[in-house]
Amino acid sequence: MTSTPTDVRTLDNYVGGAWTPPAATEALDVTNPASGELLARVPLSLAADVDAAVSAARAALPAWRDVNVIERARRLFKLRELLVARTDELAASVTREMGKTLIDARAEIGRAIEMVEAACAIPTTMQGRILEDVSRGIDAETVRQPVGVCAAIAPFNFPMMVPFWFLPFAIGCGNTFVLKPSEQVPLTQQIVFELLHELELPPGVVNLVNGGREVVESLLDHPGVDAISFVGSAPVAKLVYERAARSGKRVQALGGAKNHMVVMPDAVIDKTVAGLIGSAFGAAGQRCMAGSAVVTVGEAHERLLEPLTAATRALQVGDGADSASDVGPVVSCEARDRIVDWVDRAVADGATVVVDGRATGEDLPAGGAFVGPTILTDVTPRMAIAQEEVFGPVLAIMRAETLDEAIAIVNGSRFGNGTSIFTESAPAVRRYRHDVEAGMIGVNIGVAAPVAFFPFSGWKDSFLGDLHAHGPDAVDFFTRKKTVTSRYFSSGQGTGSYFVEN
Ligand code: NAD
Repeated sequence: MTSTPTDVRTLDNYVGGAWTPPAATEALDVTNPASGELLARVPLSLAADVDAAVSAARAALPAWRDVNVIERARRLFKLRELLVARTDELAASVTREMGKTLIDARAEIGRAIEMVEAACAIPTTMQGRILEDVSRGIDAETVRQPVGVCAAIAPFNFPMMVPFWFLPFAIGCGNTFVLKPSEQVPLTQQIVFELLHELELPPGVVNLVNGGREVVESLLDHPGVDAISFVGSAPVAKLVYERAARSGKRVQALGGAKNHMVVMPDAVIDKTVAGLIGSAFGAAGQRCMAGSAVVTVGEAHERLLEPLTAATRALQVGDGADSASDVGPVVSCEARDRIVDWVDRAVADGATVVVDGRATGEDLPAGGAFVGPTILTDVTPRMAIAQEEVFGPVLAIMRAETLDEAIAIVNGSRFGNGTSIFTESAPAVRRYRHDVEAGMIGVNIGVAAPVAFFPFSGWKDSFLGDLHAHGPDAVDFFTRKKTVTSRYFSSGQGTGSYFVEN
């Protein structure tokens, strides 16, 4: 809770086409993790605030679904232009509130824009199917219609991109939408909703409710919400999945991850090192696709370790807004302390620290949440550091003698988000792709996050639901199917008989 000066603004919600102060009485501080600077206060909205947003979204639904689909797509084209024009401002906002470097933040905005571009194809992708003559003179057709009021709940690590996994597809398909951003990073979506306001959508088509757990639980229980999209940690994903299903909602819940990168003896080492470093330490390890565990096969270990540790030691840690920084802070001092605890625990379990980022930050601004890239060896698959998501710049290295053994280690994880293999061997890739139990696979790619036109297809504890985020799944998730079987008699085919024909 906060005791902040009055000149720091408290954020509003956006409800029914207007910025609206919530009924909330409590607020949290939003800080810049590079410095501890107080940026704003985020209200902890109440059930009444959720109700206001859902009511506005419900009221807007009949008119919005009847706006023709080409016009809905045109609004998305306009949104794309507005986002492109404001890319620098949006990227600066992501860096300021979340900590990642500006290069990374710009890439994030680019990904969000790509989502809008994919959603601009809605007049094609939302088409149904028709089959003539399923019986004599009878046709069957399936049309897609919007699901209704759709709500999305976002994590802190992609303040811009994750809401855009859902928003453009949802409204493009004719739904109305309520977004709850992460209370740790609510500022970028304030800019986004200013841009959405410029689109002159009918009031209530898009709504923004700031807050934490109470907002989430109110959305999950609200009878006026038809579909829930959640992205966050695995325990909360499970809770959201179960509670939303209990009230009969359509739900997709994307959870945490432990992504393995397998390095074969024939890997091209310099490219592999670059891929591993970008994956493990980019965004300070706070990506759901971060490669946080390496499994070396055979002699790959000896070839890899020295160049990997040398390149890791050369990484510059600092404010993400400083172009000299390779790695920014983690999201908060609490997150930093938790990450340092993970490394301490791994050491107690028998791991060896070969690059130690625990003390990083002593020469950086006080109040910053810095923890440096860290590499651990002598890690075994049963250690907690090998099993659990650390969500920080910590890379655990394990060894396997064969590809089979490496695959068994990867498949021993309860998570199944992404994994990568580094090799020039097509048979090894074929084998890996076929046998590995994860939904997104990289071949000589450190972060194999699919582009907007393909689904973000995590497995196991990393995803609960049937339909994934973006790609063709987005249209399936944000529409429901109606199948019509029809015939007509006015074409002179009447028989004059009242008996039922089969
Ligand atoms: P989080 O689970 O703490 O929070 C996510 C959202 O849930 C936030 O909006 C938060 O307000 C809300 N929330 C938190 N606790 C809640 C509770 N008890 N009840 C109801 N709502 C609650 O996650 P985070 O720390 O913001 O984000 C990091 C996590 O997100 C990591 O585990 C990461 O792997 C995961 N993530 C997964 C994907 C994916 O595609 N699978 C993508 C991005 C992030």
